[in-house]
Amino acid sequence: MPTYSRVDLAFERGEGAWLITAAGKRYLDFTSGVAVNALGHAHPHMVAAITAQAQKLWHTSNLYRIPEGERLAERLCELSFADFVFFQNSGTEAIECAIKMARKYQFASGKPERNRIVTFEGAFHGRTLAALAATGNKKYLEGFGPAMPGFDQVAFGDLDAVKKAVGPETAAIIIEPVMGEGGVRVVPHAFLRALRKLCDDNGLLLIFDEVQSGIGRTGDLFAYQHTGVTPDIMALAKALGGGFPIGACLATAEAAKGMTAGTHGSTFGGNQLAMAAANAVLDVVTSKGFLEKVRQNGLLMKQRLAELKDRHSSVIAEVRGEGLLIGLRMVPPVAEMVDELRNEEMITVAAGDNVVRLLPPLIINEAEISEAIARIDRACTRLEQAHPRQGSQVGDQLAKQGAA
Ligand SMILES: *Cc1c(COP(=O)(O)O)cnc(C)c1O
Repeated sequence: MPTYSRVDLAFERGEGAWLITAAGKRYLDFTSGVAVNALGHAHPHMVAAITAQAQKLWHTSNLYRIPEGERLAERLCELSFADFVFFQNSGTEAIECAIKMARKYQFASGKPERNRIVTFEGAFHGRTLAALAATGNKKYLEGFGPAMPGFDQVAFGDLDAVKKAVGPETAAIIIEPVMGEGGVRVVPHAFLRALRKLCDDNGLLLIFDEVQSGIGRTGDLFAYQHTGVTPDIMALAKALGGGFPIGACLATAEAAKGMTAGTHGSTFGGNQLAMAAANAVLDVVTSKGFLEKVRQNGLLMKQRLAELKDRHSSVIAEVRGEGLLIGLRMVPPVAEMVDELRNEEMITVAAGDNVVRLLPPLIINEAEISEAIARIDRACTRLEQAHPRQGSQVGDQLAKQGAA
């Protein structure tokens, strides 16, 4: 179905941070399959792990024990706040599980009337009907009504609005600690702390959607780990399988207390092949010095990008993000920047708020970062030359909006 307006570009193979067309043209990959290919392309450890598993066993269903999944669940719990994990095949399914769990928790606590979830404008939680209702984006919802009930959306960062939205029917609050699709907006830690307190004071569950920010992207294994705030439930997907489809919903024993035998299921979720892929990703991401390097490279990128912003202030309005989840808020339309970068044989992805997302694989090295900066520099120069006046007009408009 023509649900994507695709770029006329295809790749035949990948090597680390590079994607290569059938004709042999090499593109620097700053999309990573939208924050999925954390270890880049054809990482030898992943190739070996998937190949070995493929020769043994792919799938048996959840009717039987799956030792590879037990191992992954134990590792994820060990590395996080969680006591339990449920495996699925995508981010939206992990969110779906989080929503069901929050409602079931309140039900099991004798408060079945508590079934509403507070969400934030600009969020993205996926495309199933429940995740879409949580996302609340009118453009995505149009024509798919009736919207699934039970969500109260409030303005991003507005604590008073959250407090007003919380009532006797509220079960949980869901938020991305760093908003990805919404334009790489880092949620202030004080705001997350206030949400935690609100949840504790009112018997609500705090759900973090770390589908995009999780698995090392922000320089910590999970973004929540440098906020000082621990959620009750966390959704993971994207980078967890390094390119193999997998989702996971993590929870404390308390939050998961309603999820008893028969309450939830998935045919494919947690199969041996997916578990092998995710265990291989964790091997590398948790290896000594790996996340330290991600943090260093994130800082290096931000410094180099800040220099570019100073030199191209009519093109780049702001550099933001955490670790290697970086956003450039643009002055000209973001689509033009994405096109110019693609002309430079570097692929990136647009987000909300006129932001271009820079999502290199976490294995990116300094030489590749320098190469990326040179390409971004040239793309900015061309955008400046293409329409200097339009650029400044848009800049003036933004400045006015900011002032108002
Ligand atoms: C991508 C994303 C989702 C949806 O994941 P899918 O695997 O596309 O279903 C949910 N939440 C966030 C924060 C995401 O970035």
